[in-house]
Amino acid sequence: MTDTRTLLEWSARYHANTYGRAPICLVRGEGLRVWDSDGREYLDFTSGLAVVALGHCHPRVTGAIQEAAGTLLHVSNLFHSAPQIHLAKLLVEHSFADRVFFCNSGAEANEAALKLARKYAKERFSSDRYEVVATRNSFHGRTLATLSATGQEKYQHGFEPLVPGFKHVPYDDLGAMERAIDSRTAAVLVEPIQGEGGVHVPDEGYLPGLRKLCDESGALLIVDEVQTGMGRTGTLWAYEHAGVEPDVMTVAKALANGVPMGAMLARESVATALGPGTHASTFGGTPFVASIALATLTTLLEEKLPERAARMGRRLMDGLRGLRSRHPSLGEVRGRGLLIGVELSRPAAPLVAACRDQGLLVLSAGDQVLRLAPPLIVDEAACDSALATLDRVLGATA
Ligand SMILES: *Cc1c(COP(=O)(O)O)cnc(C)c1O
Repeated sequence: MTDTRTLLEWSARYHANTYGRAPICLVRGEGLRVWDSDGREYLDFTSGLAVVALGHCHPRVTGAIQEAAGTLLHVSNLFHSAPQIHLAKLLVEHSFADRVFFCNSGAEANEAALKLARKYAKERFSSDRYEVVATRNSFHGRTLATLSATGQEKYQHGFEPLVPGFKHVPYDDLGAMERAIDSRTAAVLVEPIQGEGGVHVPDEGYLPGLRKLCDESGALLIVDEVQTGMGRTGTLWAYEHAGVEPDVMTVAKALANGVPMGAMLARESVATALGPGTHASTFGGTPFVASIALATLTTLLEEKLPERAARMGRRLMDGLRGLRSRHPSLGEVRGRGLLIGVELSRPAAPLVAACRDQGLLVLSAGDQVLRLAPPLIVDEAACDSALATLDRVLGATA
């Protein structure tokens, strides 16, 4: 077996240098835990990046993988396949949507939504109606169009010219959104909670307000639930908290519990804008990945994991707020369910590294926000253990 030092040397030599990786190599996972190539164990409060909602190597996911791998891995979308049909039906039965398009990532799901919005608005209204209003500090992906939709210059720098047709307004500001929407607006694109941008939860009137602005203007409301979907915030979809429904929703990260899959869901009247031949994906919704997503979503629903996320999230957020009295570098604790951010008065990176040294994997979201996103199967003991580690690390690195 190749030793850790050699692996890290080869990583530095052979990878495109696009990631700032932690100096460990993970080799195995089970439930809430992962192990590195030196045999060290970690409590995983990252879930990948909010991906493995059912934890690592969940028996039902592993079973679905084994069965699908021995049955039918791939057929093209020129044919029907049962797992994809069952998955689309299940997603429709458990959301606002009537129709589903499958792809392979969050960025691709957003690309599909953006293409749909342009086509819908041009056909329904006029040929110059193609603009999308998104929000500052948002994150929608790294392809050119989704990067252009993303409201963060640090990700866009160097890749100009960006795709035209995007405007950005401050998040959680209905007045700014109202001023930005005009006769050229095809859609409004928002995360129900900004994840990557620092875990920002909008005012409860925000999504209902956006719904109203969209209804008045004819613009589509697209919610990017790539991070917030699949139960993470305590309901299956985060838009449910607001009591209004979008026209289009994008999903990915946790959809197949770690096997790449994305989906774009839309209402009937909107979805019809994409007819045969207008959009496609070679790998989108293969029997293999659809079987795994089906196992993931079924398990999530049967085991009521969104409710668990809400409960565990409250416990973690209460615990984090409790730590604030002892650790002045901890600021506001925000989030919903198991998407939690803690504002810091110091850089997050050294804290993330110190937690890792103490056997706890956590994320940051921007420079000064600590982000916790454990698998939805997390239990009380693991929450308390993570809080104890944070307490220790904060005390030692104040
Ligand atoms: C991660 C993320 C994306 C991009 O997903 P990829 O699968 O990396 O393309 C898009 N939107 C949101 C809200 C995300 O969190």
